[in-house]
Amino acid sequence: MMLPTAWREELWTVGGLLALVWLVGLLTGLATWLVTGGILAYLLWNLYHLRLLIRWLDRSTKQLPYSTPGIWGYVFFRVEVRRRKAASGKKQIGRLLKEFKTSTRALPYATVVLNREFNIQWLNKAATTLLGVRKSDAGQPITNLIRHPDFHQYLDAGDFDQPLPLQLLPGGDTRLSLRVVAYGQQQYLLLARDVTEQHLIELMRRDFIANASHELRTPLSVLQGSIEQLEAGIGDKPELEKPLARMKRQSQRMMFILQDLLTLARLESRHEDEQLQSVSLSALVAEVMEEVRVASEHRGGHRFHLDVAENVQAGGQREDLYAAMSNLLMNAVRYTPAGGDITVTLKRVPLGVRFEVVDTGVGILPQHLARLTERFYRVDVGRSREAGGTGLGLSIVKHVLEHYGSSLEISSWPGTGSTFAFTLPGKYLEESRSGLGADSRKAS
Ligand code: ADP
Repeated sequence: MMLPTAWREELWTVGGLLALVWLVGLLTGLATWLVTGGILAYLLWNLYHLRLLIRWLDRSTKQLPYSTPGIWGYVFFRVEVRRRKAASGKKQIGRLLKEFKTSTRALPYATVVLNREFNIQWLNKAATTLLGVRKSDAGQPITNLIRHPDFHQYLDAGDFDQPLPLQLLPGGDTRLSLRVVAYGQQQYLLLARDVTEQHLIELMRRDFIANASHELRTPLSVLQGSIEQLEAGIGDKPELEKPLARMKRQSQRMMFILQDLLTLARLESRHEDEQLQSVSLSALVAEVMEEVRVASEHRGGHRFHLDVAENVQAGGQREDLYAAMSNLLMNAVRYTPAGGDITVTLKRVPLGVRFEVVDTGVGILPQHLARLTERFYRVDVGRSREAGGTGLGLSIVKHVLEHYGSSLEISSWPGTGSTFAFTLPGKYLEESRSGLGADSRKAS
């Protein structure tokens, strides 16, 4: 039934009836009375159906209760159609919600729905197994139930881009990876999964590399000693000179790789809460430079430019900071042809202290930059080996910096040179002994 038809029919019917009543009224001389009576009757008829409609809506019975002719039949029909549509939509949403809950319940990931105050709204079975949160805890703040300080800090920071690794029970075996996803109007989904197995595999990998490197070091030292003995007694067999020199070079290379692997293993297995030492970064640069100048001399020499702030004192691990600086400087020497310029800067910046090495060396194509800190990634394997590289230097630098919440900044262009830099955050800086002046020492 179309609205214009029903409406038109109603108009025709009412108009027709009124005309009839008026005609009869003219014939009988009671036109005014009859027309007034007709309008009143029509009004009562409408009021009656309005009452029927209200009763029907109030009782919200499913069936269309009244079959009425005319416009009111149409009204009942349209309301009924809308009600049925709404009911079927509701049913569908209900069904979807049920399916979602059933599937989420079966998920091996703990899932907890939180409101904007991080109060628990809903949770699945795995949330009870992994996080110890129960259905009866609904309405409570999640922070009352997961009391780990790292978790509280994670929620307070509100930066949920990275998952949070968590060991719920100190000393316990279970390792979790937690993730918070914001959705809707400040609602949160807390997801947690058991990563104990991955953690154990990672530990095994670390231990294996550390043990293998350790075990290989002793026989390699013996080999190196024997090569030296043979070299000393070469006397009447000059034909052995070259092979022995090759053996010596290769065994040295192997020793460097083992040392770097052991350094990486140590960096990976250390604890966050390690005691910090007081380290003079200015003195550390000078110390690294001694080693670097010797290496540079062996390669024909470079022009060094130093701009090192004095008395920069930081809390950190001396050995690690030395390794980071030394690897960056040794690379500058390795990948800059003799006679090239190498500029070393240590300066205070608003965010902390910045260490920067700029060289005028071979440079690197942009597509390699993102992968340089991967283990054994080299732009040119031949050149790296020739220069005595292990392929692990930048990986060590990355690990050291991660510990301080810093990262390696690299900019480079082939033929122009490279800049490798990092900023040690201000929280590691100690009050310098002679104030915070722009006290830099320049030398070349
Ligand atoms: P390697 O022991 O091979 O130098 P690194 O991890 O220290 O290993 O560096 C990875 C690679 O990055 C190097 O092989 C080299 O190709 C490139 N690289 C590092 N530093 C520089 C630099 N200053 N100039 C040009 N290339 C560099």
